[in-house]
Amino acid sequence: MATYEYVCSGCGPYDVALPMGGATPYRDCPECGGPARRIFSAPSLSRVGRALAEALDREERSRDAPEVVRDVH
Ligand SMILES: [Zn+2]
Repeated sequence: MATYEYVCSGCGPYDVALPMGGATPYRDCPECGGPARRIFSAPSLSRVGRALAEALDREERSRDAPEVVRDVH
């Protein structure tokens, strides 16, 4: 889980705990149900999360590549 920050124009900022990579640009505000916009202001956490997501993405791609090579042989 990672903590994401959103801000509602009526209620102000609030945090939501979501699975890594599960954040959407907008969420319904838990207070008033209005649209709340995501803020990208958690520097260390979001940087680690992004690096981790990119690393996992690369790993998935490199795992696929050997399969293709093996099919050719
Ligand atoms: Zn609100």
